[in-house]
Amino acid sequence: MAISAATTIDVDHLRAACRGPVLLPTDQGYDAARAIWNGAIDRRPACIARCTGVADVVAAVRFARERELVVAVRSGGHGVGGHALCDDGLVIDLSPMKGIRVDPTARTARAEAGVLWGELDREAQLYGLATVGGIVTHTGIAGLTLGGGIGWLMRKHGATVDNLLSVDLVTADGEVLRASEDENADLFWGARGGGGNFGIVTSFEYRLHPVGPIVLAGPIYHPLDDAREVLRFYREFIAAAPDELTTIFNLRVAPPLPFLPEDVRGKPIVMVGACYAGAVEDGIEVVRPLKEFGSPIVDLLEPKPYTALQSMFDPSVPHGWHYYWKSVELPPLTDAAIDTLVEHASALTSPKSYCIVFQLGGALGRVGQDATAFSQRDAAHNVNICAVWTEDDPEGERHVAWTRDFFSAMQPHAGDRVFLNFLGDEGAGRVRQAYGKRKYERLVALKRTYDPTNFFRLNQNIEP
Ligand SMILES: Cc1cc2nc3c(=O)[nH]c(=O)nc-3n(C[C@H](O)[C@H](O)[C@H](O)COP(=O)(O)OP(=O)(O)OC[C@H]3O[C@@H](n4cnc5c(N)ncnc54)[C@H](O)[C@@H]3O)c2cc1C
Repeated sequence: MAISAATTIDVDHLRAACRGPVLLPTDQGYDAARAIWNGAIDRRPACIARCTGVADVVAAVRFARERELVVAVRSGGHGVGGHALCDDGLVIDLSPMKGIRVDPTARTARAEAGVLWGELDREAQLYGLATVGGIVTHTGIAGLTLGGGIGWLMRKHGATVDNLLSVDLVTADGEVLRASEDENADLFWGARGGGGNFGIVTSFEYRLHPVGPIVLAGPIYHPLDDAREVLRFYREFIAAAPDELTTIFNLRVAPPLPFLPEDVRGKPIVMVGACYAGAVEDGIEVVRPLKEFGSPIVDLLEPKPYTALQSMFDPSVPHGWHYYWKSVELPPLTDAAIDTLVEHASALTSPKSYCIVFQLGGALGRVGQDATAFSQRDAAHNVNICAVWTEDDPEGERHVAWTRDFFSAMQPHAGDRVFLNFLGDEGAGRVRQAYGKRKYERLVALKRTYDPTNFFRLNQNIEP
């Protein structure tokens, strides 16, 4: 049964069962609680349960189940397609759940689902430790981890899920389970890349690694006019790079970031960024060819705190702007793929839009294809083509069309899979593509065990 926002929910019952606030559209704080990173998503849930702990999550699940309410699950709120919100229905909002405990001796951390990457890095870096997290500090650990997780440390330490030790999870029946290699191992396999399909994860336990606190890292900027030569060089350079080095390139107009000189801002650029996850002295020789190539306009690939690297690009993707993205994976770059990337990036319609390309491989590529639900073990690159504009820009449709055209042009170069975390609201076929047929069937079997009625369906859905 779908309900409308006007439907009277017996909210008193839910309020009595929850410690955290339960918000109706008429309540103060409701609009703030339904705002997510992507300002293009405007949904009006009937009710938002702001959970403060596992008991609130259980109460909300049981409440929704008894009343057959549509349920959305929200943590960091960075899902571009807006599955974290619903029209009508109940949002189970874990963003208030911020507990973090680092064990520096065991080199592990347990973090609740509302934690953002910047918050976890801050606590772990107190001990010079980190796990593989996303490249923007205000992304949630929850959605990112459940989709696999890639970032600056991945070629040294694997995907985020390769560093996941256990999860606590509330099932569609409102039961609390723990999943790890030793306990509910099938569920743990699915949680490592299967998205939010099998339950609501309330906390994550990660393996940590010594990182920094000072790392050799940062971006080098070249004019976009030089992009073809830069990327042909880059291709040869990364082919011989050690696991310690992870690189990313970005084709865009230079944003007004505080560290960029005035005369660079607003200019079309190719940015090649790198992070050396090892001793700074060792990294200097490794990155030397990258620093010496061509005529960079700005070179910020230098020692800096790991947390400074992590927050460096935050201001270029703030909350509330409008975003639309599509993604492909690529094998090692061909001349033709480089040409297509540069040609379409040069034709972007909004100065805020970008095309970012992650280098995969290394430790991430050496984990067995069947070890986790996350499936991007063989790809060389992930491409994210993102149209970005502000609410007052009337050209939104044109910017979306740029992304779609760019995505179509990349198809002849693309690999078989797509990264779950870079999917928008693109339908069942694209979710299948993230896993491939055999793995998708395994996920369906798991879904039938843990969520046969598809109670958790506002997500990258695996249909039971
Ligand atoms: C600016 C930006 C930078 C990014 N950078 C990276 C990156 O470097 N690496 C990378 O891998 N990805 C990256 N991503 C993608 C990101 O991993 C996904 O958007 C992810 O879904 C965000 O998780 P969230 O908790 O913030 O979002 P939410 O919108 O809260 O959650 C997204 C979905 O995940 C599910 N979910 C969330 N929390 C839970 C939970 N506790 N239990 C069960 N299901 C849950 C729900 O289906 C929900 O709809 C980035 C995204 C953005 C917007």
